[in-house]
Amino acid sequence: MKTSDFPQDIKDHVIPSDQGELVYTCLGCEAEFGISRLLYVCPDCGQVLLLKDNKPERISKITGKLWRKIFDYRKMLTIPALKGIYRYHEFIGPVVPLDSIVYLGEGHTPIVEANAFLQDKAKIRFFYKNDGQNPSASFKDRGMASALSYINFLIQKGYVSDVLAICASTGDTSAAAALYASYLQPHIKSAVILPSKKVTPQQLSQPLGSGAQVFEIPGVFDDCMKVVEELSAKYPVALLNSKNAWRILGQESYSYEIAQDFEYDMQSKVVVVPIGNAGNITAVMSGFMKFFEAGIIDHLPQIIGVQSNHANPVFRYYLEPDKDKRRFVPVNVRPSVAQAAMIGNPVSMPRVINRVEKYNALSNKKNVFVVEVSEQEIMDWELLANRNGHIACTQGGESLAGLAKAVALGIVDKQATAIVDSTAHALKFSGFQDMYFENRFPKEFEITPREDLINHPRLVHPSDLTNVPTPEKPLEGKELSHYVERISHEIAKLLNLEKHHP
Ligand SMILES: *Cc1c(COP(=O)(O)O)cnc(C)c1O
Ligand SMILES: [Zn+2]
Repeated sequence: MKTSDFPQDIKDHVIPSDQGELVYTCLGCEAEFGISRLLYVCPDCGQVLLLKDNKPERISKITGKLWRKIFDYRKMLTIPALKGIYRYHEFIGPVVPLDSIVYLGEGHTPIVEANAFLQDKAKIRFFYKNDGQNPSASFKDRGMASALSYINFLIQKGYVSDVLAICASTGDTSAAAALYASYLQPHIKSAVILPSKKVTPQQLSQPLGSGAQVFEIPGVFDDCMKVVEELSAKYPVALLNSKNAWRILGQESYSYEIAQDFEYDMQSKVVVVPIGNAGNITAVMSGFMKFFEAGIIDHLPQIIGVQSNHANPVFRYYLEPDKDKRRFVPVNVRPSVAQAAMIGNPVSMPRVINRVEKYNALSNKKNVFVVEVSEQEIMDWELLANRNGHIACTQGGESLAGLAKAVALGIVDKQATAIVDSTAHALKFSGFQDMYFENRFPKEFEITPREDLINHPRLVHPSDLTNVPTPEKPLEGKELSHYVERISHEIAKLLNLEKHHP
């Protein structure tokens, strides 16, 4: 539909203009800082930052009902800048002009209802939100679109030039960072730091293909994070980890999309996400709270964060019911198939603590929960999901295992509807599926394959069949029909097929 055909009340708002006043706010000392420079931690106290809109009147002078209409009409626009996460421009990055926005196809990922069989197994109605269908095949593209659009804006304004973007990664952050940076070359170059042998071959191929400088170092993700923190403190580099508050802002789009896809009805809804560095769960809570405060949604959905018992610092923190007695203690991670979430000292922990408290207060009840699952449960649920039409990654398996656990524990009401985050595409983590099918998980994973979930290819080459086609020498005539008959017969036997009776 052409904008000129939109109703008048929509026409005035459907194309957003850059305005608003974003500032960094410190979660430690509450100081505020302007956004014309790139900041990752508070220059005064060193704590992490979030971005805050200092002109909330712009939002509140429009009713929730009108906002809903604006977003629904924006679905019909064909302007690239507004096709992705910036459909919610006023909530995502109101200061970023449309011509600075980088759109590579991120956001608005499918929400797919599980079939009756799988819902029966999980004992609840649920949908997967397939964030693996983002351009670099994980949700990290949401935050990168935001961070790189902002950096692009700073470049266009002349505040910065020739940016070297840098990040530590469990695999997906570097894939997304390298992809978005490559779109903005030559103004932005990227370097990524990965824990050697702790990312999958697919994930390693992504930043290499995007032309980033890739460094593998000994250690785990938490060690890589320390190195990029050192680099960003001492050298002129742009840090693209979720320590960067612009990443969090972009990832809030996940919540806005869920709200819009369920017609803004968040009553009896449960949103399930895996927790690694805890940027995503921070963003998911922040997003729903912003929509709630703007009157766009009337209820805050229940939030379930999930961790593997091999990397569970957030779960352990919330085991203590008395909030004054809680102490955050980083853990040493053990090998996990949910490798993208294998983090013992999450950078966003102070943000989580801050957001959880506010979320529960706004909900008038405890509405955020963290559950723990085993490596075995993660693999079994992932494989079961994918045998029922999904494309869940191991972290998506972790989410579903967490939902089933939360239902079994009575945390989640069986009458509710859950939206489960598959944070990446199954193909990025298919190596773990191979290890399961071939029963070759090292002991530390504590995974025993279930017979009914194992699958293998079978080679069909009858020993009496000597003449087989090759690319250089295809078969013809009688030889070809003999080959086709023999092979078909063998396959029919293996499939227990009976011939047609004429
Ligand atoms: C980064 C990542 C996570 C963890 O998200 P955090 O924001 O670090 O908590 C989970 N799954 C996948 C696939 C990821 O790439
Ligand atoms: Zn501070």
